[in-house]
Amino acid sequence: MKFLRSLALLMLLVFVSPITVRGWGVDGHFITCKIAQGRLSQKAVDAVNHLLPDYAEGDLASLCSWPDHVKFRYHWSSPLHYIDTPDNLCTYQYRRDCKDEDGVMGRCVAGAIRNYTTQLLEYGKQESQYNLTEALLFLSHFMGDIHQPLHVGFTTDRGGNTIEVHWFTRKAVLHHVWDDSIIETEEERFYESNVENLINAIETNITNVWADQVQTWENCSRNQKTCPNIYATEGIKAACDWAYKGVTNGSVLEDEYFQSRLPIVNWRLAQGGVRLAANLNRIFG
Ligand SMILES: [Zn+2]
Repeated sequence: MKFLRSLALLMLLVFVSPITVRGWGVDGHFITCKIAQGRLSQKAVDAVNHLLPDYAEGDLASLCSWPDHVKFRYHWSSPLHYIDTPDNLCTYQYRRDCKDEDGVMGRCVAGAIRNYTTQLLEYGKQESQYNLTEALLFLSHFMGDIHQPLHVGFTTDRGGNTIEVHWFTRKAVLHHVWDDSIIETEEERFYESNVENLINAIETNITNVWADQVQTWENCSRNQKTCPNIYATEGIKAACDWAYKGVTNGSVLEDEYFQSRLPIVNWRLAQGGVRLAANLNRIFG
């Protein structure tokens, strides 16, 4: 039975192709969640194990792309993966920007992080009206998405989805370059195409190069469990300073772009993982 369910999940993952991906690709989410898993408190580990379906075998990372696969079934969830900010302003404001295309407030990735955090605080209470397994998977996924710089992008180009470029010799849209291409090229060139090797390298940086920043990443103002407005503000700044910078329709992005943006991608993956763990530790602590 367990095998059949794993097989069903595998088929789902194989056949649901990422047509309109907004957010890190599969590897980006896997990396964020793996980093987080290594930093959970015992209480958080217990809660996560309890909430995950059996076939995940305690591995949160294996299900961190699930919200991308249910976007079509859960149509309401698709605006929750990103934030559109006014073109070229390079700022984010919750009241101004966190809404869907119909103007419904709170329907953006920052609002979703708040919402699923609130739901998960019901863990351990007698009867929750929420599906806390889905809440955990959504929160873990959206903590990754909000750290992908083009997830908090400009409105007209839909976070770089309408900017057509060449990634070395291949055609791509800028958004996809940040979801997948930079990470994939990095894995191929430096890590024998092995995602685990890249995760190890980022984890080593967290304990060395970035060690003195980690506490600041983890902190939230006024004892809040999560602070998505901080993550989103950093995101649009990184989008302007690095992702959009020097890129127009038809740009050919090669080594110079790859080498200078790679550290930003690794840094945001690290922040996403560290903060997901910090949030889960506060929620389940
Ligand atoms: Zn997403």
